[in-house]
Amino acid sequence: MILTGGCFCGALRYTIEGGIPMKALCLCHTCQKISGGAGNLFIGVEASAFRYTQGEPRRFAREPGTSPAREFCGECGVHIAARSPRLPEGLVVKVGTLDDPAAFEGPALVFWACEKQDFHMLPPGAQVFATLPGR
Ligand SMILES: [Zn+2]
Ligand SMILES: [Zn+2]
Repeated sequence: MILTGGCFCGALRYTIEGGIPMKALCLCHTCQKISGGAGNLFIGVEASAFRYTQGEPRRFAREPGTSPAREFCGECGVHIAARSPRLPEGLVVKVGTLDDPAAFEGPALVFWACEKQDFHMLPPGAQVFATLPGR
């Protein structure tokens, strides 16, 4: 299974090989800010399964080397992925950037529910964590 996606203007294109190992929604304050007010729906994949097939993203980390680095299109600004220095073997990819977001099917895990707003709905059937698993 190969998933494809890209940014809004088409400057960045990517592929994900091997399907979708992790389907999640994060409702932390940072994801609310980055998404525009909702949570962040994302796919967690191994770094080796993801590659850019066109273009090179711009990167931003609030604290380089410590906080997660966001990868986004320098032309249209669409946020594609994020990598944490604490988990260099994986990355997360934003569901809305898939060519076929329906392939996501919905989140199985919800993170940082303790920071959600009253107007955020929890998806039925998902496993909900107040912060992160194992905390
Ligand atoms: Zn773009
Ligand atoms: Zn978050």
